[in-house]
Amino acid sequence: MPSIADNIAAVKNEIAAICHEHQRDPATVALLAVSKTKPLQDVQAAMDAGHFAFGENYLQDAFSKISALDDPRLEWHFIGQIQSNKAKTIAQHFHWVHTVDRLKIAQQLAKHRPHNLPPLNICLQVKLGDEESKGGIQPNEVITLCEAIAPLSTLRLRGLMAIPPASIDEAEQRHYFAELNALSIRMTNAGFAVDTLSMGMSGDYTAAIAEGSTMVRVGTAIFGRRPTSSK
Ligand SMILES: *Cc1c(COP(=O)(O)O)cnc(C)c1O
Repeated sequence: MPSIADNIAAVKNEIAAICHEHQRDPATVALLAVSKTKPLQDVQAAMDAGHFAFGENYLQDAFSKISALDDPRLEWHFIGQIQSNKAKTIAQHFHWVHTVDRLKIAQQLAKHRPHNLPPLNICLQVKLGDEESKGGIQPNEVITLCEAIAPLSTLRLRGLMAIPPASIDEAEQRHYFAELNALSIRMTNAGFAVDTLSMGMSGDYTAAIAEGSTMVRVGTAIFGRRPTSSK
């Protein structure tokens, strides 16, 4: 069995190869290791391999790891659905939140972000395709939400995130990722300078990088499969 360190090296090599194919600098694609449901030792194994950016979906699960690890190089990204009673803890302990999909959540994150910390980096989650189960705002709601969030000085709006409908067809995957990229260009043109496109997971990061992803969120390809009950 390949180790977590082997998997990280393999994913990084693949990211570099995909970038090369699309004339992109590999340094423009950040790798987020999605450690949700995985034990502390797995996070430590990734850290031993020199990796420090982790994505988590479930607050309790994340919090036990965050509390146990104290390394200034660590960067924690919240990528799960946000219940409003959890916004305070998220604002206190994470560096990034990828899943902002309503003003009320943004306001709560802003209110609870400690002033001694840098602004919380946020992405707006956009719903692509019409899968009912996935969170996110509609593409035509993005600019309005940007305008409402802009005055919140403890937040720093970095860009967009999406989880497109699962597909094994690369052309279909690329179609959705291209849509998110076009939306981020619209944001920039509307005066919201953003630098992040959080898109691509283990099954579709090739397509995401081809369409301009700047941050891929990879779980299974690094840490192995999760119990099927936890998505
Ligand atoms: C679980 C999850 C991932 C990682 O998915 P894999 O298919 O295991 O790479 C990425 N992003 C989000 C939002 C997730 O919930």
